[in-house]
Amino acid sequence: MNDLIALDRRHVWHPFTQEQTAPAPVVVARGRGAVLETADGRQLLDLVSSWWVNIHGHAHPHIVEAVAAQARELEQVIFAGFTHEPAVRLASRLAQKLPGDLNRVFFSDDGSTAVEVALKLAIQFWRNRGETRDRVLAFEGGYHGDTVGAMSVGRGSGFFEAFSPLLSDVTRLPYPATWIGDTEVDTREGEALRKLDAVLDAHGSDTAALIMEPLVQGAGGMRMCRPGFVRDVAERLRAHGVLLIFDEVMTGFGRTGELFAAGSTGVVPDLICLSKGLTGGFLPLSVTVTSDRVYESFLAEDFDRAFTHGHSFTANPLGCAAANASLDLLERSDTRRDLQRIEAAHTGFLERLCGHPRVVRRRLTGTVAAFDVHDERAGYDAAVGPRLKAEFLARDLLLRPLGNVVYLLPPYCIDDAQLAHAYDAVIEVIDGL
Ligand code: PLP
Repeated sequence: MNDLIALDRRHVWHPFTQEQTAPAPVVVARGRGAVLETADGRQLLDLVSSWWVNIHGHAHPHIVEAVAAQARELEQVIFAGFTHEPAVRLASRLAQKLPGDLNRVFFSDDGSTAVEVALKLAIQFWRNRGETRDRVLAFEGGYHGDTVGAMSVGRGSGFFEAFSPLLSDVTRLPYPATWIGDTEVDTREGEALRKLDAVLDAHGSDTAALIMEPLVQGAGGMRMCRPGFVRDVAERLRAHGVLLIFDEVMTGFGRTGELFAAGSTGVVPDLICLSKGLTGGFLPLSVTVTSDRVYESFLAEDFDRAFTHGHSFTANPLGCAAANASLDLLERSDTRRDLQRIEAAHTGFLERLCGHPRVVRRRLTGTVAAFDVHDERAGYDAAVGPRLKAEFLARDLLLRPLGNVVYLLPPYCIDDAQLAHAYDAVIEVIDGL
């Protein structure tokens, strides 16, 4: 195992990692359910669903079988001019499950490319209609991925200043993050909506779209907003004909309690981006889904209006098979019960933390529980972050605080005993700070 770590250190460059100071990576040998087994035999409880993707836990046999069966038939095929059953079935099932008229599915590879596709579709939609609407709106603290367009709209997350020469101009709006017992949320929402009104009054006719993570801003610190705020935003955009893009890369597939956060808010966006949980965490795949109205603006006799975008692995059959199998699991009534069970357990955990001197801004949406550790320095580079991570790992918990923000985003298969153990260990760590 030491050889493997030495080779890793010699050749591998890890994501979102300061390679000089980061501790040696943990070698994972296998995963089952909510547990990852390390090469040296430790059992780690995966409380972040491995970067929010393994919604059913690791190695779910139903998805394993589906991917294996698909691999024996067709592992990959060009998707321009060709199609295949797993992709068609997945697209039609998603169209049935998504709210409103979201029924045109464009496949890509990951969350960033799903966002990139949504932004490009929104801009070209207006071009194809003969209108120049180039402005894009986004929220402070939003994170939408690492490709250039996604970085531009996610600039407010603070991760991308090194790349500023590459980024395009995006109008940023304040985000009214809220938490349990927040008494000033009305004021904050009012300010955000007034700013939106001002932007739309001045620029509504040249604005193509607004992008947001509905209900929970993930990487920006599990910052939550109220469903009514999302509805108020949507209503204002409609009045100005501005397209609404929901980035549900993290919130999709049950994470917020409903299948999609769109369902929890009652808002039907014009475009929705889905990835992460789409394949149950088995393979990289994403979709950007839109309406007939948007789709039809790309139809013409000439090629100029077509959407000239595609990836080598567009709609990879293995990914689509995994996604269909993951949808089978989401359709089961016990999954629905699991979502409610986790939300109820999280509620009890956050109640236990009420009044803790180091805990502020306790918050909950569906299966996502979060709180801030009170620290002199807040934010992603808060000194307490690496310390917390190390303390959690020492207790065999895979938890990855976002700076001083501790959050739990477990796979839906996690059982009550595992959750209870995790809560006790988290409280022990916080008590010891
Ligand atoms: N959008 C949201 C809301 C995300 O949380 C992420 C990743 O964390 C992305 C987009 C980018 O997804 P990916 O890392 O798969 O490119």
